[in-house]
Amino acid sequence: MDVRNCRQCGRLYNYIGGSMYNLCPDCIDKLEKKFTFVKEYIEQDENKNASIKQIAEDCDVTVKQLQQWIREERLTFSEDSPIGIPCEMCGKTIKSGKFCESCKQQMATNLGKMYRNEAPDPKPVRRKSERGKMRFLDD
Ligand SMILES: [Zn+2]
Ligand SMILES: [Zn+2]
Repeated sequence: MDVRNCRQCGRLYNYIGGSMYNLCPDCIDKLEKKFTFVKEYIEQDENKNASIKQIAEDCDVTVKQLQQWIREERLTFSEDSPIGIPCEMCGKTIKSGKFCESCKQQMATNLGKMYRNEAPDPKPVRRKSERGKMRFLDD
């Protein structure tokens, strides 16, 4: 059993694996209700151009929480909405997720390179020790 302190109210609760918030079931429930409220709020025409601060005030949630939902791609905004969050790599304003398109592309390239380097050698640790032995013999 994994017992943790709720990040929100501090109560102990049984942690269920896979939960992305360190929250007790009560607080998760409250947060989900809040999320539904925010989602309905931004879907209304008159709130389409609301700033993230305004949403936070009107829905009584923190800007941080709103940004987290945007990062998780649970909240999305139209292209002409003023709302955006900074790319975690370069700081460019993006509409959802963590990174802008160009950073995503760059990461994919780097990941590909890394994969290709590792692919021919599945056990790098063993090879290293063998190489060490060979050098010892050479000496
Ligand atoms: Zn709680
Ligand atoms: Zn970026």
